[in-house]
Parts: sequence; structure tokens; C-alpha cells
Amino acid sequence: MLAQLDTPTRAIFHNLAPWMQVVFYIAGGLACAVFAWGFWRRIRKYRRGRAEPRFDRLGARLGRACVTILGNTTVRRGDALGGWAHTLILWGFLVLFIGTCIVALDHDVLRWFGWKLLQGNFYLGFSAILDVFGVLFLAGLLAMLVRRSVLRPKALDYRRADPHNEACDRSGFATDDAIFLWLLLLIGVTGYAVEALRIAQGMPEFERWSPVGYALAHAASGFSATTKVDGHLWSWWIHGLLVLLFVAYVPFSKMMHIFTDAANLVFHDANAGRRLPAPPSTPGYRRITDFTWKELLDFDACTKCGRCHVACPANAAGTTLSPRDLILDLRTFANTALGTPEWLPQRFGTASRWPTATDPAAVDVAADVIRPETLWSCTTCLACVEACPVGIEHLTSIVQMRRNLVDQSLLDDNLQSALRSLGDYGNSFGESAKKRARWTKGLPFPVKDARKTAVEYLWFVGDFASYDPRVQELSRKVATVLHGAGVDFGLLHDAERNSGNDVRRVGEEGLFEMLAEENIEALRGAEFRAIVTTDPHSYNALRNEYPALGAQFPVQHYSELLAERIAAGSLHFPRRLGHRATYHDPCYLARYNRQVDAPRAVMRAVGVQLIEMPRCKTETFCCGAGGGRIWMDTSNEQRRTSEQRIEEALALGDVRYFVTACPKDYAMYTDAVNSLGCRDRLQVVDLIELVGEALEDGTA
Ligand code: SF4
Ligand code: SF4
Repeated sequence: MLAQLDTPTRAIFHNLAPWMQVVFYIAGGLACAVFAWGFWRRIRKYRRGRAEPRFDRLGARLGRACVTILGNTTVRRGDALGGWAHTLILWGFLVLFIGTCIVALDHDVLRWFGWKLLQGNFYLGFSAILDVFGVLFLAGLLAMLVRRSVLRPKALDYRRADPHNEACDRSGFATDDAIFLWLLLLIGVTGYAVEALRIAQGMPEFERWSPVGYALAHAASGFSATTKVDGHLWSWWIHGLLVLLFVAYVPFSKMMHIFTDAANLVFHDANAGRRLPAPPSTPGYRRITDFTWKELLDFDACTKCGRCHVACPANAAGTTLSPRDLILDLRTFANTALGTPEWLPQRFGTASRWPTATDPAAVDVAADVIRPETLWSCTTCLACVEACPVGIEHLTSIVQMRRNLVDQSLLDDNLQSALRSLGDYGNSFGESAKKRARWTKGLPFPVKDARKTAVEYLWFVGDFASYDPRVQELSRKVATVLHGAGVDFGLLHDAERNSGNDVRRVGEEGLFEMLAEENIEALRGAEFRAIVTTDPHSYNALRNEYPALGAQFPVQHYSELLAERIAAGSLHFPRRLGHRATYHDPCYLARYNRQVDAPRAVMRAVGVQLIEMPRCKTETFCCGAGGGRIWMDTSNEQRRTSEQRIEEALALGDVRYFVTACPKDYAMYTDAVNSLGCRDRLQVVDLIELVGEALEDGTA
């Protein structure tokens, strides 16, 4: 049924001659064809990546991604202004897009059946909703404009971390951003102009339901009738052509993130980096075609928001690594090598170190595109993956490329020697396995051998807590507290090996498998209820890596065990310490395994006044030791992250203790306070030292 004259509605092609309508449909068809071609180029590129099964539990994946995308939760995390501006743009865009689809459906489909949606109350509600969301859309765009041009956050500084490629011109990135923003702004503004000049031609009362358009129409009511008609026609064409330009431009620009980011969030692995994938048939990634389709999609999904760049400790230390730059360099190379050149790419001048060969088979990505020094700078802290709002999995790509470097022996002497020790002795200290439990000597009670006697807890001690003289005293304290609390525990003694967590992240897959298998065999030969470990790196390997090798053991960090005992009332403290302290969350505990509450519960129980650093819990800042960095030559760091972290704690003011719960952290931060000369102001302690102090004589 067609609308009656007095029924609220509007003509879709108001004012446009039939030939103009034909021209518009032809232009629309062309824009859609360009869009489809650009989209297909992308799909063709992803099909050149290695296969990877990411289509499991598709319903759950889609549901999770929808919640993330529509709620915009990851975008707002840690960036209120940028996040809310993006939410307004997203919802404004979505509602305006749906509105346009309804108009097309009504005009191009339903009317041929004699139906009309856009009339009466539906039309009034439709007009009001679109008008309001149009305002939100423009408000979001203006906020983004202010953020980019006035506030200029550090994250949006596109300067590269790698000084060897300073000659790289990234002005194309800024141009692409500007086109994106201004195109949407113009589309929004001209949309209101079209609406206002249409309403102004008759000022029907029901158009009050388009409050913005009606108000603007009122303002334009003084124009002559010809001006209103001509103005409407011109603004209609400008608006229409801008929309078609937008459609055609999407697959060649940042606008494509609408699709790539949505797909990336659907196919994202929530455990990316926590448990690494097995290497492909080649030892790691050498060619661009070694990357999986999901990794090629990762490169395209990057919106250059810079959150990973700002969060990265390697970047903060002044090395050549920035996870943002790494992803963008891989994108640039993939696009060149796989035949999908970008419209506005970063351009490498002749002074830059950038491979010129475009034959994908001829370029070693892990040496010529991303420099070995850059790959070795990664501490595998996972901050980039955690910070990325669109589910990019930087760390797996880094480790796959490291595997290739290991295969080519492109690693420094210190690391080579540590790996040799790990292979020969099962620990990075190059010490005999027989000395592993030597730290237990001098304890006033025997420590059980879990291979010979059944125990409740098998304590997986780890290399640092076993061999490093600075940490051995802490191990004795842990043993004393556990013993005093009546915990039945034992060790693997000389059968324990390095867990292989960092060996795997270095890229030495064969050695990781060897160490893991030896540990698994020893663990299977012991009788215990659960594993407890003081080492967050071992905790991650045992919890997340070993299950893929068929070894699933219940595992706890010692802070969890202590918190449990405290909650159960079997561990109580005669003293309340009253210290003002800050706590450093170890990456492998907090970020990798979301374990942030137990250490804090223990600190509360011993009466510590906890003052949090700005970067805490899952947003902690890496000490710089992970991913094998502790074994490497780190002279490329201009400012050590451990020292930056100590400065962050000192900036809290009157804080006397810097509490850690990881043997590597303890060693790193002890060195940092020494080199900064601030031992008199800040004392590095392990959580167990506070527990021991609160127990006074070390017994419960
Ligand atoms: S894992 Fe950490 S160090 Fe490595 S690139 Fe990511 S943020 Fe940087
Ligand atoms: S990788 Fe993710 S966090 Fe980093 S710049 Fe790109 S979109 Fe932002």
C-alpha cells in the first residue's frame, strides 16, 4: 500500500531527474565493483598463507567477537577518549548504514511489491533514530580529530623505533588517516545538509521528528526557493558521490579495518603466546609464505593505534623493536611480495635497509625484512598481544621468525652458550644436575625426594631458585615456611630440568622438547597431588605448554598455595608488618596466567600497605629478563626496563619495599637498585621474605 499524501514519509530521489537516478545507479555499480575487486585481492593474499585451523567452535567465536566489537570493549580499554570516540563512530556508522540499507530495501525491492516501510510512525521513529546517531557519529569524529591534531598522544607518533630505517617515509599513513576521518566527516555533514534543504522546501510539521534536520531547515528557511532546490540537488550529489567514493576506497585503505579487524577478532586465539604453536615443516619462518593466513590477516588488521608500541618494554628500552613497526613492516613486505600493493604505504628510501627483491622466495623475512637484532630484543612479555584491541598475535610471529634465526645460527654468543649449557646440563648455569638441590643443605629438616616418597606437593624449583646464590636463600625461606605450615612437599632433585619455557620462546624448539620430555618423564615417576612452583616461567610451561605434549598436571604458584593456606586458617601471622610496599606483577604470572590476586592476598594477610604502581596487574611492565633476554647480550638497550620500573616505584613516594614473586625479577631488580644507587630508599624483597618476617621465627 503506497503512502497517502498526508502520511509522514519522503521521496527517496526527491528533486532528482530520472536520468540522474540512472547515473547514480551506474556509479553505485562501479563503486561496488571496485570494492569487490579490492576485497578479492585481499582474500587472494590470505589464501597464499599457510593453512591454520581456526574454524573450530565458530558459533562461540562469532559470539565472542560480536560482544567485543559491538561493546567496543578492547578499544576503550586503557584509552578513554580514543575508545569512546571510536564507540560513537562505530555505533553512529552502524545505525546510519542500517538506515541506508532500509532505504535501499524500501525503494529498490519492496516498492515493486507495493509495500512501503518508510511511512507513518515507522518513518518518524526511523528519522529520529538516524538523526540522533548522526550527531553521535559526528561527535565521535570530531573527538578523534581533536585527539589526532591537538592532543597528539605518543601512541600516534609514527616515528620508527629502528634508527637504521629512519629514512622511511610514513607520511602516507597520516594521509590515509586524514582521508578516512575527513571523508566520514564530510559524509555526515553533507547528509544533514541534504536533509535540511529537503525539509526546508516545505517544512512539514512531522519532520520535527528529524530534530537536527528540522532545526537546520529552520535556519535555511530564509533562502529563496531556487536556492533550496539547487542547494539540495548539489548537496545530494556531493553526499552521494562521497558515499560511493567511500565504498570504492575501503579495500585500499585503513577503512578496510572494518572487515579485517572483525575477522581478526573472530579468528583470534585467546591463548596466543601463552602456548606456542609447533613450528611448520620448515624450522620457523623464513619466507613470507611461511606465515599463516591468520598472520597475514594480522598484518592487515593493524590500525596503527600504537598501543603495543607504547606498552612494549623493548621499545621503552630504546631497542630497534616496536611490535607496531614489526607488524607494519611485515604488512608492507607481504603486500609487495604477494601482489597487493598498498595505496598509501610506508616508503623506504635508498638509505634504508629494506629488501628490494619482490620475489617472495628470494627474501629471508627473519633477517632481511625484520632484523635479527630486532627479533632478539623481544622479552616475550605479551604486553603487545594484551594491548592490541584487534587481536593481533605479534608474539607467535616473532617466535616463528626466531626459530629461523636459531636454525641459521644467527644468535649472539651469550645465548649460544646458555643454550649449550641447557642442552648439556639441563640448566642455564652450566652446573651439574647433582648440584640442583644443594641449596637444601643446611635446612634443619630433610626435603623429600618426590621420586621416592609420595608427597602432596611437588615443588618444581626452576633454575634461578636452584642455582643463583642470590635466590637460593629465598628458596630456603620458602622451604622453611612450607615446612612450618605443615605442607607435605618434595622435589625432583637432580631429575628436574629447566622447564624450557624461555628456551621455547628463544626459538630452540628441539631443545624445548628435550627438556620438557625429561621433566615429564621425571614428573610421571613421582607421586604427588599438585605441582607448586616459585618460578612464573616454569608455571607457564607446566600449565600451558606441557599439556600439548600429553602432560596435564595441576600446578600452582607458591603465592596461590600460601593464599589458600591463609584462607583456610592453617597459616597465620603473629606480626602485622605495616610496611608501605609496592608489588611488581611478573609477566608470566599476571599477564600470561591472570594470577594477580593471590600475591596481594598474602601481602594483605601479613599487614603490608600495598601502593600500586601505575602499571600493575595484567598491565604490568616487564623486567627485561624474559624470552631468553636474561641470557643475551643486552648492550643494545639504552635504558634498562628494570631500572625504569624501579624509577616508577620510587615515584610513588614513601614506599620502602619493592616486592617480587619471581626469582628472575628478584635478580633483575636487585641489580637495578644497585646500579641506580637507591638501595637505601627502596629494598627489593621477595614475597616469601615478608611472609617469613611476619612469622617472626619462620614457623606457623
Ligand atoms: S612480547 Fe613484549 S617485548 Fe616482545 S614485542 Fe611484545 S611487547 Fe615488545
Ligand atoms: S598491532 Fe594492534 S596495538 Fe599495535 S598498533 Fe596495530 S592495532 Fe594497535
